[in-house]
Amino acid sequence: MSRRILIAGLALAALNCAGPGALIKKPAVDTAAYNEEWRTGLAQAREMFDSLQVPAGPRTVATVLEPLNDLELVLYQGQAWASLMSNVHPDPEYRSAAEEAEQAFSSLGTEISLSRPLYEALLAVDVAGEDQATRYYHQTTVRDFQRAGVDRDSLATARIKELQEELVLIGQQFGRNIREDVRSIKLDSLGELAGLPADYIAAHQPGDDGKITITTDYPDYLPFNTYAESDARRLELYLEFRNRGYPQNLEVLDRMIARRHELANLLGFETYADYITADKMIGSAQAAGEFIDRVTQVAAPAAASDYAALLARLKLTDPASIIVGDWQKGYLAELVQREQYSFDSQEARQYFPYDKVRDGLFALTGSMFGLTYRPVAAQVWHPDVESYQVYSGDQLLGRFHLDMHPREGKYQHAAAFQIMPGVTGRQVPEAALVCNFPGGDGTPGLMGHGQVGTFFHEFGHLLHHILGGYNQRWVAQSGIETEWDFVEAPSQLLEEWSWDLAALQTFARNEAGETIPAELVAAMNAARNFGNGLNTQHQMYYAAVSLNFYNRDPAGLNTSELQADLMNRYSPFDYVEGTNLHCNFGHLDGYSAIYYTYMWSLVIAKDMFSLFEDAGLMDREVARRYRRTILEPGGTKPAAQLVRDFLGRDYSFDAFAKWLGGG
Ligand SMILES: [Zn+2]
Repeated sequence: MSRRILIAGLALAALNCAGPGALIKKPAVDTAAYNEEWRTGLAQAREMFDSLQVPAGPRTVATVLEPLNDLELVLYQGQAWASLMSNVHPDPEYRSAAEEAEQAFSSLGTEISLSRPLYEALLAVDVAGEDQATRYYHQTTVRDFQRAGVDRDSLATARIKELQEELVLIGQQFGRNIREDVRSIKLDSLGELAGLPADYIAAHQPGDDGKITITTDYPDYLPFNTYAESDARRLELYLEFRNRGYPQNLEVLDRMIARRHELANLLGFETYADYITADKMIGSAQAAGEFIDRVTQVAAPAAASDYAALLARLKLTDPASIIVGDWQKGYLAELVQREQYSFDSQEARQYFPYDKVRDGLFALTGSMFGLTYRPVAAQVWHPDVESYQVYSGDQLLGRFHLDMHPREGKYQHAAAFQIMPGVTGRQVPEAALVCNFPGGDGTPGLMGHGQVGTFFHEFGHLLHHILGGYNQRWVAQSGIETEWDFVEAPSQLLEEWSWDLAALQTFARNEAGETIPAELVAAMNAARNFGNGLNTQHQMYYAAVSLNFYNRDPAGLNTSELQADLMNRYSPFDYVEGTNLHCNFGHLDGYSAIYYTYMWSLVIAKDMFSLFEDAGLMDREVARRYRRTILEPGGTKPAAQLVRDFLGRDYSFDAFAKWLGGG
C-alpha cells in the first residue's frame, strides 16, 4: 500500500513529532527496543485492518477512507523506518531486525491490498460531493487495489501474495550481495597513484605489506577512475567494480525476473514491463521503448562528437587506439575538459568544502522558497547525523536529517529516504539524506563539483517531500507520492543552481576565503556540455537493460548475453568482456523495468527550468509559483496537470533537445 519508500536516484526517537492523534511512536535506535516496537506497530496495524474489514454501517469517507488513511500511515512509517535503518544503522543486528520488519510490513501491505471486503467497502463510498484531492485519492486507491489483484480469483490472489513476499526477500538479497561485495586492487607503489589529488594520496598510504589498497567503494573508485594515469590499473579496478555481486546475483536476478513475470501474468498483463508502466506518466512499455530510442537518436550527434574528442585525446598517448574503452571515458573526459575547456575539476574542489556547500544550499533554497532551517537536537542512529527543522515564518513544515559521510556498513550511494509523511493537523513530514561525501572526519571535506550537484539533487527530493507533505490530508498524496516517472524532475531541476555563477558565488569559497572565480565557473559550464551526448546514450543503455529484462517472457532469457548486447547497441562504449553490470545494477530491483524514468523526468525538468532561465534563477516569484504549483500539491493531481499548472501549457521535448544540442 505504501507506494514508494526510497528515492534514489533514499528518523528518530526523540524527534517523534507526533502531534495530537499520532498513531505510532518513532522507533528506538536501540536494537532490543526496536524489535519490540516494530512488532507492536505491526500488531496495531493488523488490528486496524481487521476492524476495517468488518462491515459496520454505511460506507463513507469517515468510516472507510479515514481509517484506511490511518492504516496507511502506520504502514508507511513502519516500512520507511525499516528501509532507512536497514541501510544506515551501524549495528548489523539492528539492520537485520529492520530487514525483518520491512518484510513483515510489506507482507501486511500486500494482504491489505488483496482484501476483497475492504475493496468493496471502498467502491461503495460516494465521493461525488468531496473535494478534488479526496476524489483523486479515492480513484487512485481503487485503481491500486485493482492493480494489486484484488478482483482476481482466490487461487490467484493466494499466489500473488506468495510472490510479493518472495520478491521482498529476493530484492533484499540482491542488494545485500552488491553492498557486501566490496572488492579491491593492490597497488605496488605511490607512483601508481599519479594523477590523483593530494588528499586522496595522503589517505591511501601503503599498508604493512607495502601495498596500497583501492576499493570499489565510491569514495575510492570514482576519483581513481577519473584521475589515475595508469590505464592498466584503471581497467583492473573497473573490472572489479563491474563484477560486484557476480556471480551470486545471477541466480537471484533470474528469480526476480521470473517471479515478476508470473506476477504480471496473474494480474492480466503480458509482461512485467507492461504492468509497471501502466500507472506512470508514460503509460505503456511500448511508449517507454520508443522514448529510449528517441532519446538515443536525439543524443546521437552530440555523442558522436564527444566520442571523437575522447578518441583523439586517447590517440595522443596511444596512437594505435581505435576505440575508447568504458573504463577510459571518465579519465579522458576529464583531460579534454581540462585541456580544451580550461576546466580543472581538481582546481574547483578547493571552493567546495562540505560545510560551506551545505550552508550555501540552505541559504539559497531558503531565499528562493521562503524557508529557514534550524538545527535541532535529536536522538539519531549515528552521532554524525545532523538534524534540522524547516520553517516558513513561524510555521514548522517538516524535519530532516543529514547522514552525509561514509562509514562501514552504510548505504553507498546518495539517496533521500522518507521517514514520515505529513498529515495536516497531525504530523509534519520527515526525511533523511544519506550520502557519502568527503568530510566529517576533521578534514575540510573538499567536494567535487559533481558531488555538489548530487547534494542539490537529493536536497530537491527532500524539499519535495516536505513542501508537498506539510499540508496533506491523505498519506498516499503526501510529498513525493506522485507518479514515479515525475519524481526526479524536482531534484534534477534543483541541480541547475549548482551551475549558476551567482548562486555559486554565494557560498563557494576556499580556505583563504576567496570566492570561486567567474572564469572557473564559465569554464565549468563550457565543459558541462561536453559529455552530455555520451552520458545520455549511456543512461539509455541502463534504461534499455532495465526495460528489456522485463518486457519479454523470461523463459530461456540469458541476462548476461542481453546486457552485453544492449551495451553494444545503446552505449557509445563497447561491452568490456568479463564484466557483469546486471549483477550490481541495484535499480533492477527497485526500479525494475522503469529506469527510463530518470531521463523522462529530465525532459520535464529542462522544460520547467526554461521558465527560471527566462525570469532569472533567483527570481522569487517563479520560485514561489513553482513551490505552489509543483511541490505543494504533492500527489493530489496527476503530474502532467501539475506541470501544466506551472508552465501554462503541456510539457514538451524542446528544451531537452536544445540542451543536448548544446544550444
Ligand atoms: Zn533522485
